[in-house]
Amino acid sequence: SRYFTIGEHPEGLPERSLFNFETRELPELKDGEVRIRNQWLSVDPYMRGRMSGVKTYVEPFRLNEPMEGGALGEIIESRHQQLKKGDRVIHMGGWRDVAQLDGDQVQPLPDIDVPPQAFLGVLGMPGMTAWVGLTLVAELKSSDTVLISAASGAVGSLAAQLAAQKGCTVIGSAGSQEKREWLEAHGIRAIDHHQSADDIKSALKDVAPQGIDVYYENVGGPMLEAALDAMNDFGRIAVCGMIARYNESAPSAGPSNIAAVLTKRLRMQGFIVHEWGKGHEQRFYEQVGPLVADGIIEYRETVEEGLEKTPDAFLALFEGSNDGKMLVRLNG
Ligand code: NDP
Repeated sequence: SRYFTIGEHPEGLPERSLFNFETRELPELKDGEVRIRNQWLSVDPYMRGRMSGVKTYVEPFRLNEPMEGGALGEIIESRHQQLKKGDRVIHMGGWRDVAQLDGDQVQPLPDIDVPPQAFLGVLGMPGMTAWVGLTLVAELKSSDTVLISAASGAVGSLAAQLAAQKGCTVIGSAGSQEKREWLEAHGIRAIDHHQSADDIKSALKDVAPQGIDVYYENVGGPMLEAALDAMNDFGRIAVCGMIARYNESAPSAGPSNIAAVLTKRLRMQGFIVHEWGKGHEQRFYEQVGPLVADGIIEYRETVEEGLEKTPDAFLALFEGSNDGKMLVRLNG
């Protein structure tokens, strides 16, 4: 198996040289295990947290051991009763070409007619996150005005379209002109987040003079400060991510206007998809699956070719060079 490791915990934005490419022979399969040839790997912002060596809601990566991450592949050998050679599965043995895992830890692909890699994106963990955050955490209503940050990314682009489908007025922030045009083409009012909090505040006043009822937070930093200013009384903030902070080597001060949570009686709720979404997977597939299969919900992918590109694909997330879901395709 060829795979990536890290040999130390990075400070700040990781350098490409942090990642070591290694090879090892896999042991013979034990009872219950499967061997999978990966075809698609997912890289996700939360992986930065796992590099820091601190346990949060997920274990840190172990130094000099194969890194982990969402992946899709084909079983090439099985000693598991329900899984057979040729089955395609989703699992967490990413950052490598061949994974060997306990078969109980892999999931067959749901029966929805979409390209398989969609189960790492719009119909996978990021898509479920968008749906859970809007539906279960923010309890979105059609009368809401919704602000979504990183709105053209894997999570944000589904959240934005689901909110628009529901009839909400939707505002999305994105870092490039091209991304903002894509949002506008989908009925979403777009703003640039590469501005000071004060400039984002005035941009929000222009696009949403009625104020914001729901903020779907992916970013933190000046976006959160501006959103707090724009929130209406009793608004809800679903805190999904704070990517602007993931590479900070020392914590920075929070929003200067945090007291708005009190004065506006806001509800600000952080959530982790696996906890909040547990038991709701079927509802998610039933509601969102047909919209994706019928092309009503559009999804974009940025694909890097070849296992060696995995660290580059990961680092690109922090530059915003991905449109929609960032993936790595393995050439077999
Ligand atoms: P994306 O596909 O959205 O990729 C990340 C995007 O974030 C980039 O394309 C970039 O877009 C934007 N970005 C990067 N750095 C900054 C910055 N400093 N300030 C503002 N924007 C920035 O990733 P995902 O959709 O996979 O994840 C989105 C968020 O959701 C992340 O915060 C992630 O951690 C979180 N998440 C949370 C989960 C949970 O269970 N709570 C589960 C999954 C994801 P741009 O060009 O617009 O700058």
